[in-house]
Amino acid sequence: MSTRVHPFPKNKDFSPKVRHKFASKIFNNLYKMSADGPGVSRATYGPGETAAMKYCAEVAESEGLSTYFDDAGNLVIELTGQAPDAPFIICGSHLDSVPQGGNFDGAAGVVAGLLAVIRMKREGVTPPRNIHVMALRGEESAWFGQCYLGSGALFGKLTKEDLARKHRSTGKSLEDYMLELGVKTNRILAGDNLLDANSIAGYIELHIEQGPVMVARNLPVAIVTGLRGNIRHQEIICHGDAGHAGAVPRWLRHDAVLATADLLHRLDTHWAALQERGLDLVVTTGMLMTNKDDHAMSRIPGECQFCLEIRSQSIDTLEAFYQLVRTEAKGVSSARGVSFEFDERSLAAPAMMNDRWIKRLLECCEENGLESEAIPSGAGHDAAVFSNAGVPSAMIFVRNENGSHNPKESMKIEDFMYGVDVLHAALLNPPL
Ligand SMILES: [Zn+2]
Repeated sequence: MSTRVHPFPKNKDFSPKVRHKFASKIFNNLYKMSADGPGVSRATYGPGETAAMKYCAEVAESEGLSTYFDDAGNLVIELTGQAPDAPFIICGSHLDSVPQGGNFDGAAGVVAGLLAVIRMKREGVTPPRNIHVMALRGEESAWFGQCYLGSGALFGKLTKEDLARKHRSTGKSLEDYMLELGVKTNRILAGDNLLDANSIAGYIELHIEQGPVMVARNLPVAIVTGLRGNIRHQEIICHGDAGHAGAVPRWLRHDAVLATADLLHRLDTHWAALQERGLDLVVTTGMLMTNKDDHAMSRIPGECQFCLEIRSQSIDTLEAFYQLVRTEAKGVSSARGVSFEFDERSLAAPAMMNDRWIKRLLECCEENGLESEAIPSGAGHDAAVFSNAGVPSAMIFVRNENGSHNPKESMKIEDFMYGVDVLHAALLNPPL
């Protein structure tokens, strides 16, 4: 790749038009080096991810920036600020992708940070604090069944079991992949903090939006208020009584499907009421089925199995809604003569973004003439790991059509450049 690293001669200006071309070139090169079928594949702690990191490092070095790989194998690109010993600011995102995913999920945040510091360097501007542009490894769970590997490793969050996880297609362990890249697995296994949260003044991540809100509201850039956590049940079974569809009258039935529908309808009504009151909540039953071994057209269903997922930015809303789930399940049980069997619930805590950074980023949008809004993130990001480690964290979303984790994700470079401008402004005038 090295022959094509430097897309523009140094003596050219770094006007918005040049920056736009520069960004397109970097994304195109990243696409070319990791193209796989209709999308891109940059495997976690694997060759695609490493190639993308080396390319970003080469671009940075050709601009006179220093780079290194940290003990977890993440790439760090550094620009020294006016107070080199004070806490520094990290901006970045991940460089891995799901298999045959899109080119922008993750990479957009790394390229944004890179462009922001290159602009400072070229324009001779020194930011108040050191800036570390980080390309994190292993955010996607698709390869080893666990997300946030590169960021989790920085804060002692990976376990022995995590490092023993097997790659989805080669069967080799994560530890083997890490060792090949010179990662200090002994430190990770010891639970060492590879990064001191107190030495970081802020973690800012630009990312494409993965939902439909910004397209619907015509917003090129939005600021994230928080990352939703979730409570999940993989399997809930409603037990009723099977019977002849023609012979059992309504008053003697214990229909598991109608009971489940009743429960979901009650939950939907509560959800609508809570949303009216301004609470952040989404509720999904993505799987629902009768028992395929004995279900039939002419049989009253005696069993219905479903999953339930509740997401919110607020742990209080999550827990309160969960209580409603259990209470309504009891209500439906006694009304319809059925019972609900819940498997073990799982909880992923929400992560709030930092108020001062949110405010500053919204101001930066305004200064750049952008209409913006603060919206929640329905998906998880590395920013949650930093936030939960005690680092003031924030996210900039850029409009993107067709969702993500698929080759059709589509971000306009024009929208991306608005996001980079907001990031650049915030790095030059951070809320310290
Ligand atoms: Zn992502």
